[in-house]
Amino acid sequence: AMNEASTIWLDGALVPWHGAKVHVLSHGLHYGTGVLEGTRVFDTADGPAVFRLPEHLARLERSARMLRIGLPFSAAELAQATVELVRANGHRSCYLRHFAFLGYGSMGLDMRDSPTTTVIAGWEWPDHLGGRPLRLKTSSWRRNDPNSVPPAAKGTGPYLNSALARREATDAGYDEALLLAGDGSVSECSAENVFTVRGGVLRTPPASAGALEGITQDTVLTLARDLGVEVRVESLLRSDLYAADEVFVCGTAAGVVPVASLDDRELPSAEGDLTKRLAELYRAAVTGAEPRYAHWLTPVHSS
Ligand code: PMP
Repeated sequence: AMNEASTIWLDGALVPWHGAKVHVLSHGLHYGTGVLEGTRVFDTADGPAVFRLPEHLARLERSARMLRIGLPFSAAELAQATVELVRANGHRSCYLRHFAFLGYGSMGLDMRDSPTTTVIAGWEWPDHLGGRPLRLKTSSWRRNDPNSVPPAAKGTGPYLNSALARREATDAGYDEALLLAGDGSVSECSAENVFTVRGGVLRTPPASAGALEGITQDTVLTLARDLGVEVRVESLLRSDLYAADEVFVCGTAAGVVPVASLDDRELPSAEGDLTKRLAELYRAAVTGAEPRYAHWLTPVHSS
């Protein structure tokens, strides 16, 4: 799955997969001083296309600014590099990982003297949650507190929070963790935003609940509005999920995935009507089958 024959874009050059190496004393390895993005390339009728690439790169820039990681490449340069990498690797579809971290130079915690290493890698990665309705478990771990580490930044170090939660949930036999914010309101899953449907109204927690400003979340909100569905970005309690008609999670890696149960409370419909409609429309948008959303696609082949 890791396409070891392909190349990786490293600081401006395409290098062989196994040549993309860093020093063991890289700052980011020790302190998690890095930022990352997960983006997907979909197979469309006009060839491979990157879904919402400018939005992902803009979020990378915002994350870097929040966490004080200097980015040596502009979003325009990274967009160009992304297209070149996907072309060079010949992927029709793939998952892309953009990341930038403090490299080798100094171990000082003030982060001043470590140069940034910038990377783009792509590999074939099927939807990691497998597409079947998920069994969620509320995590004993709270989402990173905004006054400790800003959850709005997609930083590498802060992912320990997600990794601890995911591992706890899967060790207990569940598919994914639901994380609460410090005040007990619902935040998000380890790598997906969460939505409820009740009485035909779609709800998802805001960034102030520690949820990442998900690009799939934004996509789903747009699709739902276009379907004429009432949407609300508002604070939710775990009991709002227990009491929902439908719950689903969404993210770049996972897609739009229905939830079967939370904390062993089965939802009335494991794959409800609106979830199904949104999942289908999402699929149509990312693959270019719905021309209304073609502006979200960056073609890899210009012809
Ligand atoms: N929340 C977290 C913590 C994530 O890691 C992700 C995946 N990037 C998401 C939400 C979903 O974000 P997106 O739709 O932009 O992939």
